[in-house]
Amino acid sequence: MPVPGYAGRVAFVDLSSGSVRVEELGKSVIELFLGGKGLLYYYGFRLISPSADPLDPRGNRLIVAAGALAAHAPAASKTGFLGKSPLTGILCDSYAGQVFASKLRMAGFDALVFYGRAPEPVYVYIEDGRVEVRPARHLWGSSTWDTWEAVRRETRLGASVAAIGPAGENLVRYANIMVDGFRAAGRCGLGAVMGAMNLKAVAVWGSRVPARARPDRWRSLYLKVYERHRGDEPTRAWARYGTNDGVSVCSRLSMCPGRHWRRPWLPEEEASRLSGDAVLSREAPRSVYARYAGVLWGWGCPVKCSKLASPRRRGLEHIVVKPEYENLAMLGLNPYVLDPDEVLYTEWLVNGLGLDSISFGEAIGWLMELYEEGLVSREELAGLTREPRFGDPEAVRELATLVAHRRGVGAVLAEGVEKAARILGRGLDLGVHVKGLEAAAWDPRGRRGLAVSYATADVGASHLRGWPRPHQPPSAGPAAETVRSMLEDRDWKALLDSMGLCSFTPYKPGEVEDLYNAVTGLDRSIDELLLVGWRAEALARIHAALAGRVPEGDTVPRRWMEPIPEGPLKGEKAFRDEEDMRRALEAFYRLRGYDPETGVPTRETLERLGLGWAAGEAERAAREARRRLRAAAEA
Ligand code: SF4
Repeated sequence: MPVPGYAGRVAFVDLSSGSVRVEELGKSVIELFLGGKGLLYYYGFRLISPSADPLDPRGNRLIVAAGALAAHAPAASKTGFLGKSPLTGILCDSYAGQVFASKLRMAGFDALVFYGRAPEPVYVYIEDGRVEVRPARHLWGSSTWDTWEAVRRETRLGASVAAIGPAGENLVRYANIMVDGFRAAGRCGLGAVMGAMNLKAVAVWGSRVPARARPDRWRSLYLKVYERHRGDEPTRAWARYGTNDGVSVCSRLSMCPGRHWRRPWLPEEEASRLSGDAVLSREAPRSVYARYAGVLWGWGCPVKCSKLASPRRRGLEHIVVKPEYENLAMLGLNPYVLDPDEVLYTEWLVNGLGLDSISFGEAIGWLMELYEEGLVSREELAGLTREPRFGDPEAVRELATLVAHRRGVGAVLAEGVEKAARILGRGLDLGVHVKGLEAAAWDPRGRRGLAVSYATADVGASHLRGWPRPHQPPSAGPAAETVRSMLEDRDWKALLDSMGLCSFTPYKPGEVEDLYNAVTGLDRSIDELLLVGWRAEALARIHAALAGRVPEGDTVPRRWMEPIPEGPLKGEKAFRDEEDMRRALEAFYRLRGYDPETGVPTRETLERLGLGWAAGEAERAAREARRRLRAAAEA
């Protein structure tokens, strides 16, 4: 009998033979890892070798997991994807919103594991317990938008579709997975993992919600939570813009990636050009919303913050995008294109090509800085008809096409900034990344302790792995003081990712605990549930240490240690100095129970987390890390 609320099944799809094996999802795994993020790291740790080549589908896996509350809670919108990242070489999880996860569970599965390379391009269709591998040669080369439409036509209009574009097919190391057209599991190049498998898309449709342990209790809780979230005043105010007013916010806080991270603060007349009001003045009419109603908001979402917008340009009337802060910042502020119509057009193109807008935005901002500084010559920019100058939207779009098809200089940028700098032999310390993952659009020089979060995040420079409290500039005191609050937020976010809940909704810990227990009947306390993030992080760090990224990668890029050049926080740096960073990392290792020299979880910590079975690998990882540290010291 499956645990109530879960489908209780995981499908393993061998694309090289087209065979499918189904395993039961056992109670002991659920108790430790819940779903979503927790489950992704459980399977990722067990099934993917730290030495596997991320672009070799015999060794790598693409794992997809529904959160524990998918199909059971308001705004249970997140679908988790994980593989060994082609960009960083370590395990990486990335999430897309909307309804895929709930449909997956209703189709009879809690998770999917893909491996092997199909002899021809394929897509996989899952409906009510059946898994079919179907030919997709006719879709190869199509944009994510066209693939989404075509797969729905060939399966069911109500199916949810996760697809790659040309970037994934061409193994761009930061290719994304687009879900239902508008949502991206954007980070770490998981689209290239699919491309290497010849897997163009995965579509799901299901009709059976698994039975809940206490249906009456669940129903009253669901309605109560839904009504509270719908009426929550701060959330209602926030929902007016969604994340679209982020440029105004980041500028106010001196946290923007402006002009390749050289302008974290912008004068009002510049920031206002990409403000929430500027974006919403391009909002699509209600008739367009009606067309996309089933795929625009997360499963059962009471908040509905997503917006649709179109560029105000003749000839671009057909374009509809869902603007978000990260797109506005990395496709607008980073290359310093401040015209919202141009940025919306670029977002549409980049999403259709299947590129992660964060990594791509960083790659082009980095190239523009190199060009401006005379570190790259015109002759090295094969295929590019324009000069890569800040403020030129045409150059940005030309680069997007070159990267997605790996043509000319695009083939170099397709490697991500860390590898691209090694290929060029220049610009390594100008790239803004952690562990090879380009940074999301929040500059930590505006907030004390955020840099520790970037330095220690499981996947590299993610802004979604914990924000410290309170909000103060880094000079306000030692960064170490903020680590505890950062970890509290990290564990809360990891719980939401494991439950599959959207972090933009005002969930309270008690609501998550009550809903989970009503659905599953497992009666877990919130303190027990919150351990899932620490477990995932501990496994991630062992794996990353064996892959050579921990503890060496626990640091921040040089740009963030340069003082902010202007504005109210002029002079601030990510840490006050190197010693401030060292002490903050020490505090992180101590609070988490990781070895102070290698940053790898100790045996005692793993046993405390119920992960004693991973202690052998942890000891091997610590030995490897020590050997590398010694070799580096002697070099
Ligand atoms: S709050 Fe916004 S992002 Fe979250 S599920 Fe609802 S519509 Fe989606």
